[in-house]
Amino acid sequence: MEMILGKMGEVVLKGGNRPQFISRMLRVIRARLKPLGRFNIYEMQSTVYVEPQDEDIDCDEAFEIVKRVFGLVAVVRAYDCEKELITIQRAACEKLAPALERARTFKVETKRSDKRFPLGSPEISREVGAAVLEAFPHLKVDVHSPDTTVYVEVRDRAAYVHTDPTPGAGGLPQGSAGRAAVLLSGGIDSPVAAWMMARRGLELEAVHFFSYPYTSERAKQKVLDLAKILVKHTGYMTVHVVPFTEIQERIRDRCPEEYFTILMRRSMMRIADRVAEMHGCSALITGESLGQVASQTVKALGATGSVVSRPVFRPLIGMDKEEIVRVSRRIGAFETSILPYEDCCTVFTPKHPKTRPQLEAVEAVEAPAELTELEDAAVANIESIKIPR
Ligand code: ATP
Ligand code: MG
Repeated sequence: MEMILGKMGEVVLKGGNRPQFISRMLRVIRARLKPLGRFNIYEMQSTVYVEPQDEDIDCDEAFEIVKRVFGLVAVVRAYDCEKELITIQRAACEKLAPALERARTFKVETKRSDKRFPLGSPEISREVGAAVLEAFPHLKVDVHSPDTTVYVEVRDRAAYVHTDPTPGAGGLPQGSAGRAAVLLSGGIDSPVAAWMMARRGLELEAVHFFSYPYTSERAKQKVLDLAKILVKHTGYMTVHVVPFTEIQERIRDRCPEEYFTILMRRSMMRIADRVAEMHGCSALITGESLGQVASQTVKALGATGSVVSRPVFRPLIGMDKEEIVRVSRRIGAFETSILPYEDCCTVFTPKHPKTRPQLEAVEAVEAPAELTELEDAAVANIESIKIPR
């Protein structure tokens, strides 16, 4: 039978909390696979087993889903068979045929955790290797850098054969680290930041600042589309859309132009902090990266972060754009992120932004804007949109 094996990562290091981490992860896998049909899903010996129970289950789709689950470092499609040499040989030759036909060289690696099995690992590898060579005469053995490796695992319940695993999503199980609010724009960076922190076990609420009519309905829809992509990895999420226009206009009308962006960013942080409070989030997440733009210098980040008491996580802080783009592609967000759109940050962009704003100066130019009431009103008029998984 075809099945999926997942190898657990850091979860196995969790000592006394290990059972909770594992059951959390199993719960996530069960919930996500449920729409595809019936599965038997359990953990044994640091491996997660996902066994389809219906004939017509879409295993390709199931595999894609399991690949996105946080907590698994490697996943592979495997086949189980009876623990007899002849059936193991047959399973390897028949079930792994597509990979073996493509390869020119191979080797066999055996793990035998069932010590009652009459043959040792080297003998099993040798015998299965011989069967593969006979069935695929074009193949040669290469123990150092084979095109493909046939893995044989003889475990308590059954034997399993599979080829090379693919990387899983890694990280820690969904929600195991608590909750955080991510400031989600329509760009490349913030969805990546959201995914990176969700991968460390944070469940997310998203906050989006919307400056209608300076930014269009389409810009908002783009953010919702990005949220839809994110929930495939992170589970349910609500996007809190904050009406931001009046705050921006007030800043424009009462503050010096070179401070526009930094003042706007401070207002965003204060409002996001309140959304976090309302929804039980203990931290904020942004997609800021050191030096990327004027509002992301050390001084600017200091002036932005100082308005909130909650920790601000900036997972991209030390990453280059290229690296960020790589992650963006990996999570499937890039094509959507690069669609043209207006962000509220680009609407009132100063020609000469302050790159080294002093906190005292920022506070002094901010005071006349009297933003408190406008921020109260913005929070009161939030539109919360649930994104189903
Ligand atoms: P991104 O690609 O995520 O838009 P960016 O490089 O364009 O980021 P900025 O526009 O300066 O950078 O924004 C920095 C961070 O502030 C973003 O990563 C995001 O977390 C937050 N942010 C910016 N604009 C918005 C918005 N309209 N709604 C919510 N968060 C925002
Ligand atoms: Mg942006």
